Amino acid sequence: VEARALYVAGRPKSAALHEKASEVMPGGNTRSVLAYSPFPTAMARGEDCRLWDIDGREYLDLCGEYTAGLFGHSEPLIHDVLHSTLKRGTNLAAVGEGEEKLARILCGRFPSIERVRFANSGTEANLMALTAARAKTGRNAIMAVQGGYHGGVLTFPLAGRSMATLPLDVVLCRYNDLADARRVAAERAGELAAIIVEPMLGSGGCIPATVAFLQGLRELASECGAVLIFDEVMTSRMSGGGMQARLGITPDMTTLGKYIGGGMSFGAFGGKADIMSLFDGKLPHAGTFNNNVLSMAAGSTAMGEIFTPERAEALYRSGEALRHRLNGLAEQADVPMGFTGIGSMMTVQFQRPLPTEPRLPGPAEEALRELFFFDMLQAGIYLARRGMVALSLPVGATELDRFAAAVAEFIEARGTLL
Ligand code: PLP
Repeated sequence: VEARALYVAGRPKSAALHEKASEVMPGGNTRSVLAYSPFPTAMARGEDCRLWDIDGREYLDLCGEYTAGLFGHSEPLIHDVLHSTLKRGTNLAAVGEGEEKLARILCGRFPSIERVRFANSGTEANLMALTAARAKTGRNAIMAVQGGYHGGVLTFPLAGRSMATLPLDVVLCRYNDLADARRVAAERAGELAAIIVEPMLGSGGCIPATVAFLQGLRELASECGAVLIFDEVMTSRMSGGGMQARLGITPDMTTLGKYIGGGMSFGAFGGKADIMSLFDGKLPHAGTFNNNVLSMAAGSTAMGEIFTPERAEALYRSGEALRHRLNGLAEQADVPMGFTGIGSMMTVQFQRPLPTEPRLPGPAEEALRELFFFDMLQAGIYLARRGMVALSLPVGATELDRFAAAVAEFIEARGTLL
């Protein structure tokens, strides 16, 4: 109650904006993840890894735009290329050099991507990959995992059948449970067009897949003739060639999004040449902004000149070190708290041992997540409301120390509640 009161007292302008925005937008927003009680903090501007809200408060940005903000808010090379691209006009209704450049970089880096196509979002990329898999196999059903998130209409809850509002025939299996995946596949033998999976559940709480699960899905897909799709919209940052390169497991198709457009709206799907060749004329894939020049220019600069495989490796190591450090703090204090994740992505959990499967948090845990979020904001640190951190490249040692100190302070101040 006290944390919430502090939150409200410090943000009169955000509160007023929320009230006005709710008159013209349901919930006062157009992104469900940004809708939280009592009202979301509205941001005015950003610089490197800092943000300022409309009430003038400054934050260290560890939300990192849910992984899309990898380059921070003022990366000079990206700003330069965006400015020079703008000067040449943005709506040219034509193919251009930028898309060839970015496509070549992605094909060179992701083991499964022999050919690639662009879209405007990760959601679209997944819809197109599923469409391609259905066309390739001549089958309809799709296997996804409970707790998986592949975009708004491709959200698969933990309990029960799919909530997807699209007319898709989706069957769900439990994450990290290969026996369950095999059972579900056997029930739909001969009907599965695709198996789609995140190598680590992002929205589902930064829960990594076990190698055995992914390897098992690889074998299962091959056995039953389904297209294996890795949704690497979030996890592609884990190495120069994503989680697939890190683990040495190659899917048939991969979807990408988020930071790869250098901070502009972005999605991509790619895979084996024999699947992608469907788009050589058989399958249509139009989209006014698929190759928009800003995303193509920012993306090719971002991936070609900034987020090199070496930078990806360094970011991965920095995230691993941070997560171990934070978990060390919780262990030392002997509190049921910690962070799950891989590399530069992690989510706070109020359970020990840390969860290895997605689960629905109970009300007590939900209250702790809210408290953690408000306490971090009070300490000037901005995270995703669910307690997810996505490090960006401008985050350095000073910022990591600051976050670790804030977590230590949280454990100290709130220890009795944990
Ligand atoms: N797939 C995964 C794993 C995601 O985390 C997201 C977004 O968070 C998406 C797909 C959807 O991407 P977008 O929000 O760009 O549509």
